[in-house]
Amino acid sequence: MTSWLNPYITYVQVIIMNDQIQQFYDLLKLKGLKLTPARKIMLKIFLTGENKFLDAVQVYDQVKRTDSRINFSTVYRNLETLVQNAVVEKITLEGKAAYTLFEKQRHRHHMICTSCRKTTPLPYCPVKELENILKREDNGFLPIEHKVEIYGYCKDCRVRE
Ligand SMILES: [Zn+2]
Ligand SMILES: [Zn+2]
Repeated sequence: MTSWLNPYITYVQVIIMNDQIQQFYDLLKLKGLKLTPARKIMLKIFLTGENKFLDAVQVYDQVKRTDSRINFSTVYRNLETLVQNAVVEKITLEGKAAYTLFEKQRHRHHMICTSCRKTTPLPYCPVKELENILKREDNGFLPIEHKVEIYGYCKDCRVRE
């Protein structure tokens, strides 16, 4: 595994990443999805992407740098397949669909910088307490899932402005 996506990536990061990549390969197999070259490349892009949300064109631009034979519709179809299988998560960012790895196990919400698109996890889930209130019998509602995204400017972008 070479650091073809980011020349500044360190040796330690590469080792951690290889481990994560293997976990995602296993996850795909578990879900009965084939490990096609396009899917492998796409997973690597998301794992080395510094937590950023990418739209389909941005994913495609990076895929074709590794394998120019893969076309946009293949990338798009695979993104949607990965979303349907809860490997990748799709959100709406500035009115456009954006994708990131689904972090089901960690249950995280994010602060999203609208300037550089960097995403940072929130320190805790602000909805849990509200869910407990909704679950009480007088409300009679059973919450199943929720989404919380906070948009703004990160520290770096605030300094720049
Ligand atoms: Zn920023
Ligand atoms: Zn939550």
